[in-house]
Parts: sequence; C-alpha cells; structure tokens
Amino acid sequence: MIQKKIHDRSWVEIDLSAFRTNLSILKRYLEPHQQVMMIVKADAYGHGAIEISKIASEEGAVYFGVANPEEGRLLRLQGCKSPILVLSPCLYNEINVILDNDLAVNVTSLNFAKALNNAAKAKNKQAIVHLKVDTGMHRSGILDSEFINFYSQILKLSYLSIEGVFSHFASAENDIDFSNKQEERFWKVIDQLPERPKYLHINNSHALINKLGKQS
Ligand SMILES: *Cc1c(COP(=O)(O)O)cnc(C)c1O
Repeated sequence: MIQKKIHDRSWVEIDLSAFRTNLSILKRYLEPHQQVMMIVKADAYGHGAIEISKIASEEGAVYFGVANPEEGRLLRLQGCKSPILVLSPCLYNEINVILDNDLAVNVTSLNFAKALNNAAKAKNKQAIVHLKVDTGMHRSGILDSEFINFYSQILKLSYLSIEGVFSHFASAENDIDFSNKQEERFWKVIDQLPERPKYLHINNSHALINKLGKQS
C-alpha cells in the first residue's frame, strides 16, 4: 500500500495488490503475440510511477511509456532498467537527457530527427525512435498520407534506429467506429513499410476494454 501526502487533508492510497490483480486479468485478453507497454505518464496518473512500473515489470510489462524525458530520467534514477518510450514530441534541449538515459523517443519532425542523429553520432550511440502515425487523434504524429515518405527520410539517418511505429485512439471510450477507422488507416500504413519494426502499438486501456466487451 502506498500512502501519499499523509499529512495533508487529502491523500491517495493505492492498493498495489489490486493493481497487480487487475493487470493480470487484463493480460489474459492479449493475443499471444501482444505485450504490455505500461503507461506511467504524470507519475502513473498519480498512482506512483516507480511503484506501478515495478509491479508491471513483475507482471510481464516489457515497455514503459512516459510523457517527457524528465519523467524517463526519474524512472532511470530509481532503477528502472526496462525500455522507456517518451510518447510526446521532445524539445531540442532534451536531447542529452534522452541519449544519456537511453530513452526511446517519438520523433515527429525531420529537423528534430537530424539533431538527434547528430547528437547520437557525437556520443557514438544509436538513438531509439518510435514513429507515430496520425490516424485521427491530431495530437502529434505524421499524417497517414505523409508517413511513408517521412519514414524513408528517417531510415537514412544512420544513428537513429526505428524500433516502433504507433498511433493513438482519439475516442476509444465512446466511439468504436472511429477507432476502427483509425485502426484500418494504421494497418494500411504498416502494410506499406519496407520492413516491420519490432514494435507496433495502437491500443490504449479503453481499446483493450472495448475488445473485452466484444469477446464476452
Ligand atoms: C498516453 C498514451 C496512451 C495511454 O493510454 P491509456 O488510456 O492511459 O492506456 C496510449 N498511447 C499513446 C500514444 C499515449 O500517448
């Protein structure tokens, strides 16, 4: 049990064993080739990123998602050795933190990609990138119509390695038809790639829950 801010008038108590049980139940609904990236943005939405990521790791989560490089750096400082992806686009002045902490990043502009490539070269490292297809969320990413061109530009940068391609459902909680359209656009893009990266990801919590609904 974690207790936060116990001396304040309000606090949060998280029952970590309930979290463990919930996660293990959700995992039963994954297909055999699917794995869990645990999203721990904003201190795991206030649940405690380090505590949540430790348990998720024990339960088989293979990747962690954070909002910005600073969140990734904090996880590393607290001993997280798993792969971590920064989901939002990053700033130029965050490139050193990204590389020094082995964070994977969502690259959404060619100029940023080139800066990251140069910095990685200077450190003699490969920067790990996941490229986001904008299939309708319009928060960040490259429009599906422009994606293949962008992908081939990134492929030319030899200190970047494309480990993943992903997208994000805009309204999985209330518009399944729109989610299905997004998923269709996503797979259309994936089918045109010269080669499939190691990770493809589009589901969020609601999408998984919707699929549970379909199966029952
Ligand atoms: C934040 C985020 C998620 C997390 O969605 P949950 O509903 O919290 O599971 C999924 N995908 C991307 C790209 C995100 O940025």
